[in-house]
Amino acid sequence: MRILVTGGAGFVGSACLRHLLEHGHEAVAYDSLVQGHRAAVPEGRLIEGDINDGDALVRALKDVAAEAVMHFAAATYVGESVTDPDYHYGNNIGGTRSLLNAMRAVGVDRMLFSSTCATYGMNPVIPMAEDAKQDPCSPYARTKLAVEWMIRDFAHAYGLGFTLLRYFNAAGASPDGRYGEDHKPENHLIPLVLQVPLGQREKIMIFGDDYPTPDGTCIRDYIHVDDLAQAHRLAIAATTPSTAEVFNIGTGNGQSVMQVIEACETVTGKAVARQVVERRPGDPPALVADPTKLKSKLGWKPRYTDIRDTVATAWKWHQSHPDGYADR
Ligand code: UDP
Repeated sequence: MRILVTGGAGFVGSACLRHLLEHGHEAVAYDSLVQGHRAAVPEGRLIEGDINDGDALVRALKDVAAEAVMHFAAATYVGESVTDPDYHYGNNIGGTRSLLNAMRAVGVDRMLFSSTCATYGMNPVIPMAEDAKQDPCSPYARTKLAVEWMIRDFAHAYGLGFTLLRYFNAAGASPDGRYGEDHKPENHLIPLVLQVPLGQREKIMIFGDDYPTPDGTCIRDYIHVDDLAQAHRLAIAATTPSTAEVFNIGTGNGQSVMQVIEACETVTGKAVARQVVERRPGDPPALVADPTKLKSKLGWKPRYTDIRDTVATAWKWHQSHPDGYADR
């Protein structure tokens, strides 16, 4: 299949792009490189462009002769969404509108959307199936939920097959250590914890230990990025011009912040200094996927089921790339 991957130079988008190429698809990234990295994309597979630039999107869809789109391009920092909601609404909602209209103009009628478990927000039901109540608690998560609805409405009115993928916490790196997570600034837990044994950070700050969880720290479901990529490949193959589907993508096992730190200590063989600080605004106490539907309907089989194996791939990447892709 010929697929345009918006945000295809980002952490998850580029992992999906490479996975698609490895499995014989014709995939090309469309990325502004504001957050993405040229080095994360194989040679000749990148179109530079902004997600709000409708004309450039039309040109890219035509150049690629795209049959489907995977849409990752988005602002993703929860904290930034609180302080600069205009940027998040403009990029995530405005950008998706540009993309949907470009797809209409060119006649591309299949789409995968990179949504998030954060749309479930404060939902107390653990693990979460796709019909769990959505109750987003940050501007970022609200933009993602709004986009889910925009896609449904466009599909209904103009004809479009879509699959919404709500993923939990993407983590890990390619097992050969070549590609991994590189956000600037970094705000994700596993890379930040690993900065301590790398000697780049004195200690990890734990954002609150008074949550209603067994050890008081937040619980998340850390899913290896290659297992996420596998889910995307299976989902796009199952998306026809009349599909309207949604899947959660996670391991089904939650890890607390404390357990993640312990896993990092085990993998690196080094003690990780820590300090408990205030809660971070917008953080739900626990988000864990129920991946039953993904397994039964798409035949998804995760390769990484132990958080230590996921952390080990991240550790290999960060050790060999202490400054990330070092392109900015
Ligand atoms: N977290 C933390 N210290 C940090 C970064 C993250 O305690 O320096 C916590 C955060 O509050 C959340 C979990 O780790 O409960 C995962 O955060 P991350 O930003 O990696 O992903 P999110 O769940 O926000 O998408």
